[in-house]
Amino acid sequence: KPMEGRITDIGPHKYDEYFPSVIKKNFGKWLYHEILEPGVLMHVAESGDKCYTVRVGGTRTMSITLIRELCDIADKYCEGSLRWTTRNNIEFMVDSEEGMKALRDDLNSRKFDGGSFKFPVGGTGAGISNMVHTQGWVHCHTPATDASGPVKAVMDAVFEDFKSMRMPAPVRIALACCINMCGAVHCSDIGLVGIHRKPPMIDHEWADQLCEIPLAVSACPTAAVRPTKVELNGQKVNSIAIKEDRCMYCGNCYTMCPALPISDGEGDGVAIMVGGKVSNRISMPKFSKVVVGYIPNEPPRWPSLTKTVKHIVEVYAANANKYERLGDWAERIGWESFFKLTGLEFTHHLIDDFRDPAYYTWRQSTQFKF
Ligand code: SF4
Ligand code: SF4
Repeated sequence: KPMEGRITDIGPHKYDEYFPSVIKKNFGKWLYHEILEPGVLMHVAESGDKCYTVRVGGTRTMSITLIRELCDIADKYCEGSLRWTTRNNIEFMVDSEEGMKALRDDLNSRKFDGGSFKFPVGGTGAGISNMVHTQGWVHCHTPATDASGPVKAVMDAVFEDFKSMRMPAPVRIALACCINMCGAVHCSDIGLVGIHRKPPMIDHEWADQLCEIPLAVSACPTAAVRPTKVELNGQKVNSIAIKEDRCMYCGNCYTMCPALPISDGEGDGVAIMVGGKVSNRISMPKFSKVVVGYIPNEPPRWPSLTKTVKHIVEVYAANANKYERLGDWAERIGWESFFKLTGLEFTHHLIDDFRDPAYYTWRQSTQFKF
């Protein structure tokens, strides 16, 4: 329907049209909030009104059937309102404790045929929140790993900590399927990053026909790509040459030129970074650092990746002080101790060696004393 005061009817309606009445009434007048139990928050307003939020884990891609069911739940308990968070959670808001309990129990009772939770309640406070991730093998052009697959496998391994708050502090896990990292990996407690380990292949037959060669040249952040001429079927044709020792396998040139495919079944895999955060509690926000240089892709359940993530989580949970984020803990004990405690192998690949600070992305200095 047309919105009053709007220039066009393109785009979503103004958000406040859909506020639940308790939020509309107390907008901007909230005093404090508490986490009553994993997945349940209570916000208290100046007026004394309370808003209870029940958070359930969702997925990045949902079926229409599932969304319809979510909307039915919102109609039944929440005046038809719900909200999606940036971590693919769904939050339902009600204005009474009785309503919250009925809603929470209803959500917990809904299961898939195999018996797993359809709408798991959790993801708040000192637990493991829902993973954010990028697009993966099917939906993007430069991925070195899948996204939904490893994310599902990792979340299954840490699921109990989505539904509890036994961690010293919040643990955010994110996955980006290439080093362009269009997800929140740079500043997550644990970041999983797809990495290519070989330079792009060059399809000389198609380079000049499919690509603007100057665009491919200018796309390379390390100036590894240059134009060249090659002999093909007895003729000289325009093509591309790559200086392999300058290549950092980012895939940017493939973005510009489909004749430079970079995906590789053998070379591609996942690196693990830890210690990033956006919070400024205890210490300033920080980027995460690489602690595992390479884990092979092992679809469909990524056993080595899930085992390593679970192990890092358990060592952190057993050793960090209360309120210490993973990066705060590693910095307090020293990164050398982090590697000793976790038993992760330290190699020279983990030390910053990238040439141009303007572009550094995943290799951050770890300031080691080794
Ligand atoms: Fe595409 Fe890379 Fe983003 Fe994955 S992280 S969706 S491959 S740009
Ligand atoms: Fe340059 Fe990245 Fe292409 Fe390598 S993969 S040649 S670094 S753009």
